[in-house]
Amino acid sequence: MLCPACEHPLEESTAACAKCGFSLSQADAQFGSALQAQPRLTDLQGHLSKSGRSSVLKATLEFEQRFPTIPITTLIHVAPEGTPYRPYLFWLFNRSGLHTALEKAGANRHILLWIDPDSCHLSAILGYGLEPLVPDSLIQVSLAAARQLAHSGQTAQAAITFMRQLDLGLVNLQSQLPEIFGWSPEGTWSALEDEMDPQEMDRADGILSY
Ligand SMILES: [Zn+2]
Repeated sequence: MLCPACEHPLEESTAACAKCGFSLSQADAQFGSALQAQPRLTDLQGHLSKSGRSSVLKATLEFEQRFPTIPITTLIHVAPEGTPYRPYLFWLFNRSGLHTALEKAGANRHILLWIDPDSCHLSAILGYGLEPLVPDSLIQVSLAAARQLAHSGQTAQAAITFMRQLDLGLVNLQSQLPEIFGWSPEGTWSALEDEMDPQEMDRADGILSY
């Protein structure tokens, strides 16, 4: 992963960035105490209407049904003025109580979408467990699809659009795996053994030589 402050490559095991010194404890000192997030939807400042809340929750549940190992949380939250977005989101992801101790590092497949309704900033962060599998371009495309809605104040719709776009991208991603692996459903070991059957060989010869 890259350092959220300076984008220098960061080892998962290192506590602080070798280039700029960013660390979670430094972020604690800078940002204070983190809000405690509710899974699926956190809107502690009450920016969403009642119907906005329920439509985001409905879309989240649908996403969860389709991808049960990828918990997704939408955070609607106005950051203090002048807050650097990337380090702040990284810090919230780690400090807002979203994950259990069992979901550390590679076992963490959470996605956190953050929309700041004041500045209309929109960004997302993935757990380490998704990082090697889900390309950043997919996240960027999903954010781009939602950005205009966030800018026009349609915060709930922006969150829903992000999830829908991400859903499409994840389906497309898994459909590419057979091609990446060169996998063929017919090319099983038992099928290969069948090809070794002399009778099969004869039939194959027959086809070739009329
Ligand atoms: Zn750094």
